[in-house]
Order: sequence, then C-alpha cells, then structure tokens
Amino acid sequence: MGRNSRNHKKNKSQFRLTYEEYKFEFTVTFLLIVGIFLLFEKMEIKGLIFDIGFASISFLYSFFNNLLANVTNTLKDVELSDISGLILISIAFYMIGERIRDRLIAQFTFLNECPKCGQNIQRVRRNYKQKLIQWILFAKVSNYTCNSCDFKGIKVEKHR
Ligand SMILES: [Zn+2]
Repeated sequence: MGRNSRNHKKNKSQFRLTYEEYKFEFTVTFLLIVGIFLLFEKMEIKGLIFDIGFASISFLYSFFNNLLANVTNTLKDVELSDISGLILISIAFYMIGERIRDRLIAQFTFLNECPKCGQNIQRVRRNYKQKLIQWILFAKVSNYTCNSCDFKGIKVEKHR
C-alpha cells in the first residue's frame, strides 16, 4: 500500500515535469484551438475542420521555415568564423599523426632475423589485428615467426 502511493506520487511529479516542459506548446495549442473556434464558430462544421487543418499546416510550415533559417544562419556563422581554425587544427592533427606513424613504422622496419636467437624468420599469415594496423598506418605489414624459438613479430614498411 505504502509502495503504491509512493509510485503514484512519482508518476504525478513526472506528469508535472512534462507539463512544465511543454507548457508553451500546450498554451499555444489551446489558444489556437479556441481562437480558431471563435473566428469560425458561425461556419459549417466541414469548413471549420478545413480551416483548423489549414491553420495547423501553415503554423507548422512557418515553424519549420524558421527552424531551417536558424540552422542555415548558424552554419553560415560557423563557416565565416571557424572554418579556418578547423582547417589549422586538422593540419596540426595530421602532422602529429604522420610523426607518430613514421616512428611506429621505423620501430618495426628492421626485422630480417630473429631478435631473440638470431635464426631465420619465416613469413606467416597475418591476423585481423595486423590487417587493422596495416589499414591504420597505411603501410605494408608482414607477420613473421622464428624457425627455432617462439618469437613472433611484425615488419612494417611504407608503401613505395
Ligand atoms: Zn628465434
């Protein structure tokens, strides 16, 4: 019983919150309906329905028109003030990425024999992780294992 009444309270406050959020919409809809009713109360019911429909459609039309205009203006502002900044930041990130890429590739370029035991290494199939690395680094990745010990490693080379 106590639990039920608590739930009830919760629901009530949730409804109030929704009402507060949409107070404007509720009020506008109420005013529109009453206003249109007052204007067209003498007309036939068919005409009334038609006019309510027409008013709603033109209201929605102007609402979306304004919304579109706002979005377009915002995009214009972004274009004017921020696009050069965004380009500079992108170039900086690209340069950082290139530097990281070069260092990673340089670290894995020299693999001609096993670094553990010095024996010959053999090329084997790459797994999906190594294919992903190849895709991210935009470089050739080869997978190797040692013939004598348990060494496994990759070799990374820049595309020529
Ligand atoms: Zn080895």
